[in-house]
Amino acid sequence: MPRCKDKRCSRWARPNHFYCYDCWGALMDRLCARIDRIENVADEIYIGRTCDPDSRRDEHFEDTGRSNLIVLHWSDDIDEVCAIEEALIREFAQSPKIANATDESLGGGRTELRNYVYVSWRHQPRRAVRSSSVRYLQGGRWWTWSSGG
Ligand SMILES: [Zn+2]
Repeated sequence: MPRCKDKRCSRWARPNHFYCYDCWGALMDRLCARIDRIENVADEIYIGRTCDPDSRRDEHFEDTGRSNLIVLHWSDDIDEVCAIEEALIREFAQSPKIANATDESLGGGRTELRNYVYVSWRHQPRRAVRSSSVRYLQGGRWWTWSSGG
């Protein structure tokens, strides 16, 4: 059985979760809180996985008008990235704003490259957005690093 992916942690990982119970829970709490804040100002969100966040942002913008993309987590282990992506999609599956059509992490991962879990979103019309959240979200770049293993 492998060790927890959190480098500060020496416990055993849970099967298929790549982290121990506590670290997995803390990671999910952090990432879900981040998505919650985005969901509040978005009219559509999409949780996905890529090895090229810049290109993916451009694709989403051209295909769906979602111009914002933030990397939530990254890893050289494609299985870990898929597990996190699937768990996050499940957490938000009931949201009326989520654009994901499935709770399965789809194929196409590039195992030889670093992979990224991201959330892509389209802002609500400006008048509907709370000003405090606008400042928070518009302060950054198109996508920013936040955490990683
Ligand atoms: Zn741990």
